[in-house]
Amino acid sequence: MAGRIHTNERQRELFIKKSTRVARSYLNRAKALPGLPDATNPFFDALEDVYIELKDLSEGESKYKKSIGTLCVMVPSELIYAAKARPVRLCSGSYTAYSIGDDYIPRDACPLVKAVMGFGQIQALPAFDQCSLIVAPVTCDCKKKLAGALETVKNIVPVHVPPLKREDADIEIFLRELYRLVPILEEETGEKITARSLAEGICIVGKAQYEMSRFLKYRKHDPALVQGTHVMAVMNAYSYMPAERWTTCMHRLNLEMESRLQKQQFVGKAKQPRILVTGSPIAFPNIKIPLLIEEMGGILAADETCMGERGLYDPVSVIDPGFDGMMRAFASRYTKPCTCPVFVDNSQRIYRIKQMVREHKVQGIVYHVLRGCLVYDYEYQIMEEEFGKMDIPIIRVESDYNEEDVEQLRIRIEAFIELIKLKEYAKHKKGRR
Ligand code: SF4
Ligand code: SF4
Repeated sequence: MAGRIHTNERQRELFIKKSTRVARSYLNRAKALPGLPDATNPFFDALEDVYIELKDLSEGESKYKKSIGTLCVMVPSELIYAAKARPVRLCSGSYTAYSIGDDYIPRDACPLVKAVMGFGQIQALPAFDQCSLIVAPVTCDCKKKLAGALETVKNIVPVHVPPLKREDADIEIFLRELYRLVPILEEETGEKITARSLAEGICIVGKAQYEMSRFLKYRKHDPALVQGTHVMAVMNAYSYMPAERWTTCMHRLNLEMESRLQKQQFVGKAKQPRILVTGSPIAFPNIKIPLLIEEMGGILAADETCMGERGLYDPVSVIDPGFDGMMRAFASRYTKPCTCPVFVDNSQRIYRIKQMVREHKVQGIVYHVLRGCLVYDYEYQIMEEEFGKMDIPIIRVESDYNEEDVEQLRIRIEAFIELIKLKEYAKHKKGRR
């Protein structure tokens, strides 16, 4: 494995120009969708700061000494907050970083790991560069090999994730890994992790989860109170904002949603097709799927992706408030309810999506597969069978980190939306007979 490439200033300038152009164009398209809530501004600003202004995330932040990068939603951010550091989720959708990573990672690997590798090589994204350590759960093969490849340019801590999560013994494996992480984080930050600081970490993340649970009530409303693409931006911003600031901004967004509800101010029409997106992560700036769904006349009523709702859905449940009790609660929370298909048994994932379909009144599912993402692709067939039984249309869309597939995706998504409309119309007509 080669070490970091030697980029000169000119290459870096070109990279920044291209990368900021793509990020700006996606931000502008998202903001141009009707009904942008005023309270989403700080979330869009956070994405702009990272991808366009290329700001140092520690600016104006005196509370956290260090930024710790994470490469999956399975890293307990409570543990990082307990070490007085801020977690930064580094899963990225950058097309420009992807094109650099493509030279270092095999062709058939997924674009997400190529983008992360690209940032490791180019050193042009301060949010990435300032992470003194990256915690990398070993989940799928792409993440496993990425952890090894990144070691040449970053301080990486691979964390073993058990492929099974049914038995207590499986959770014990993950618990041991979390215990191994404790002294590593302490050494990195110079802060002792105690029962008290763990409880503080739980409290910080718990408040964000509380605001998220309030927000979900508004998101379920039919007609829609908010566009799903705007929600994806809010959720992606959680990767880069300290949880306390995100929670404060989310509280304001909830107030705006309540006011919209009171005034019956909707962004969606009563018969607009309500779509759920699931599958491979949708990481900014690669938000073309949610954008296309809503630009083509659908409403993204729910998302079951790890850059979206999944990350903040289940709070940590502490039975024993001692140090070990809280560590056990993390090990359980970050594996058992996780619906990521990297686990062998995934009946839970189908159950969760069915629950979301009911609660969000979903009429169609867009199943997103990033090119090379085998774990999600594997599960498409069972999804098709299960939702076929429920008469919920589902479409598999494969995409990559570039703009070449946009027109083809647009045509397919538009046809899918028309199909849902026709189906709903037929159902309505039948009901009137
Ligand atoms: S898709 Fe699964 S393994 Fe990949 S980042 Fe998300 S939760 Fe982690
Ligand atoms: S789960 Fe899919 S998208 Fe995530 S790293 Fe693995 S292959 Fe890539």
